Amino acid sequence: MDVRVVDVRKEFDRFPALHNVSLDINSGELIALLGPSGSGKTTLLRLIAGLETPTQGAVFFGEEDASQKTVQERNVGFVFQHYALFRHMTVLDNVGFGLKVRPSSNRPEKGEIRRRALELLDFVQLGGLEKRYPTQLSGGQRQRVALARAMAIEPRVLLLDEPFGALDAQVRKELRRWLREIHDKTGYTTVFVTHDQDEALELADRVVVMSQGRIEQIGTPDEVYDRPNSPFVYGFIGESSSLPVRMENGAVWSADRNIGLSAGDMPDGEATLFFRPHDVELLESSAGGCIVGTVVASRRAGGTRRVELEIGGGSDRIEIEVPAEHPAADKSSIAFKPRHWKLFPVQG
Ligand code: ATP
Repeated sequence: MDVRVVDVRKEFDRFPALHNVSLDINSGELIALLGPSGSGKTTLLRLIAGLETPTQGAVFFGEEDASQKTVQERNVGFVFQHYALFRHMTVLDNVGFGLKVRPSSNRPEKGEIRRRALELLDFVQLGGLEKRYPTQLSGGQRQRVALARAMAIEPRVLLLDEPFGALDAQVRKELRRWLREIHDKTGYTTVFVTHDQDEALELADRVVVMSQGRIEQIGTPDEVYDRPNSPFVYGFIGESSSLPVRMENGAVWSADRNIGLSAGDMPDGEATLFFRPHDVELLESSAGGCIVGTVVASRRAGGTRRVELEIGGGSDRIEIEVPAEHPAADKSSIAFKPRHWKLFPVQG
């Protein structure tokens, strides 16, 4: 295990930004901290870096309790959303900075710092730009310099806080792929913060989904997308439709219709049914167990069509996705069954 966050709580003026969070990060892993604004992602990253101290709990680097160590002692590489390059320094000096400010005992000599910085600039595909100043670079190039600077110290862990957050969509996409390549070549244990689910799913080995200072789920992109373990994760990652239902003797009811799904051994009571709008089987007939909805709206969405349905004549509305050419959109009602779905009992 490379980094272990053990039962960490962080309060700011008694406001709990993190509630007893634990997380094990394997050596060489690329981990995404994903969650909405205010969920505690940056706070967790800063705690790993040593920029914040936990109110309770500890952070281990390997077997060692790092809680009392400074950022420098932890030897972490940090990249922020807003470049934070030194404006008055050339690109080359920016990259070499972390080595230059080391105590003399483990500071490489000048020529060696230059050699390493040039090598890293080549590595991040910015060879030839070493004499420029940050203002003479594009946003994407600046972030690559920032990453080269973070890697120059050969960090124990690379920590990236929304590294592509300030860039436009196209550059973001390119840098995403590029970061994955860089990671695979270097093998650095890397933790990055994002509120963009696509970024997290595309880039990370494992995604840590956070909400309100808690970890909701930790899993591979496939696990968190295909098997969300809470209504929050279902709603936050990918698109979802949800419908209030009742579980009775193993059957699932929506209003007064048995919708033909099995509640398994879940206890009787109110629940919410979640499924993906695109992951439904349209049925010819509404006889038998299925969900039947009245079409209230329909719109084209790229290569498909989104249909909004009112369920059970009540106020429940859900969306499903049908092929663009499917006649379902012209019908007054649609019968369907979700292919994959999950029931979450209503608490309390
Ligand atoms: P964002 O995506 O907006 O950056 P986040 O998930 O990174 O959000 P944090 O920045 O970790 O969230 O903040 C978590 C909570 O802790 C928020 O409610 C925030 O207001 C609070 N918080 C963070 N830093 C401080 C601080 N220095 N002082 C007081 N409250 C803070």
